Amino acid sequence: MASAPQNPTTAAAAGDALRVADLPGRGRGLVSARSVREGEVLFSEPALLLYPSTLASLRAYCAACFRALPAAAAVPCASCRAAAFCSPACAAAAHPRVLCAALSHGGGAGLAAAAPTEAVQEPLLFLLAAYSLPDPALRAVLSLSSAPPPPPGAQDAAGLHAAVAALAPPHLLPAGFSPDLTAALLAKDRGNSFAIMEPYRPGMSLELLKARAYAVYPRASLFNHDCLPNACHFDYPDRPGTGNTDIVVRALHDISEGREVCISYFAANWRYADRQRRLLEDYGFRCECDRCQVESRWKDDDDDNNGDDGDDAMEEEEDGGDGGDDGMEEEGDANADGDDDFPHAYFFVRYLCDSEGCWGMLAPLPPSPNGELSHVFECNLCGKLRKEEDAMPDEGGSGMVH
Ligand SMILES: [Zn+2]
Ligand SMILES: [Zn+2]
Ligand SMILES: [Zn+2]
Ligand SMILES: [Zn+2]
Repeated sequence: MASAPQNPTTAAAAGDALRVADLPGRGRGLVSARSVREGEVLFSEPALLLYPSTLASLRAYCAACFRALPAAAAVPCASCRAAAFCSPACAAAAHPRVLCAALSHGGGAGLAAAAPTEAVQEPLLFLLAAYSLPDPALRAVLSLSSAPPPPPGAQDAAGLHAAVAALAPPHLLPAGFSPDLTAALLAKDRGNSFAIMEPYRPGMSLELLKARAYAVYPRASLFNHDCLPNACHFDYPDRPGTGNTDIVVRALHDISEGREVCISYFAANWRYADRQRRLLEDYGFRCECDRCQVESRWKDDDDDNNGDDGDDAMEEEEDGGDGGDDGMEEEGDANADGDDDFPHAYFFVRYLCDSEGCWGMLAPLPPSPNGELSHVFECNLCGKLRKEEDAMPDEGGSGMVH
């Protein structure tokens, strides 16, 4: 078995691989500025904004670097006593000041009362971290693309704004603090935040495989979506050294100069109807990628053959997106209607993790400094390493879409 990369960013020809481009009908996006080889690190980027996913996450991870807190040696935040740091160095780096102040409110009880559920904690923690940013960084967040307005009842922006106003000392809030600014920030969060996942450990229940933090990366947020992406992102929150919360984006395969580089905004095995719904609700567009063009025809077939399929997909989508297996396209579904034409099977076999229930993306490890390709693929969710020759086992042995 190959070993994990010691430092996945060293092989990067950092920063020169991609350029921002205006793409007809797609808005801004990132295209390759030169030919790129499989596994190459396209860039890595520090977070502009980093915040705990939940209040439980705040108790389990360092408030500055989001590594797991050492049980015995955690350093409590001297100001709020509710957050903790993994080391004196992280304690010196501190954590977002408005969030810290909100945690001081009633000894942390104020924040817990304002956000009793994880669904409310995530946007409230985002707002408290965003309102802690210095002005240029806050403006950088506001310059990102916005998610469309949430469906009625999905997010209570006014209530979240009131919670920030109640928890944060006015003198710490920026001059423009207002319900409109809060609503604008929430649209940036929905459209741009990346999850920093709890790294998978063997034997770990999949329910534990959730985000420990969320982060905004301005450059990575420029990636458009494709249901057959040619790049994917990695996070290594437990790796030693600085930059453990940096996002690392690698090419899945060779990309010629001038091609758009895309990631998938969710697990690549989601079925067509679920993908379209998510993209429309959270990002405001219909996907017309090569795969969707093919699968839109399957959907018609499904509707003809079995009217229940669409309803099932809709129900599953309601609580999807939290790292569970909701709304996932089970193996074989793609061919369930007898369609013998699945031109993308190769993509699934090669780039989708086959660890049970994972559905992460597999990208080759970076080429060595002398340009030699790795031929070992790494899952961006469970971390599994798989040799290229193991991707195509004998017929019937893969458990993948054939
Ligand atoms: Zn730390
Ligand atoms: Zn604090
Ligand atoms: Zn698509
Ligand atoms: Zn995996």
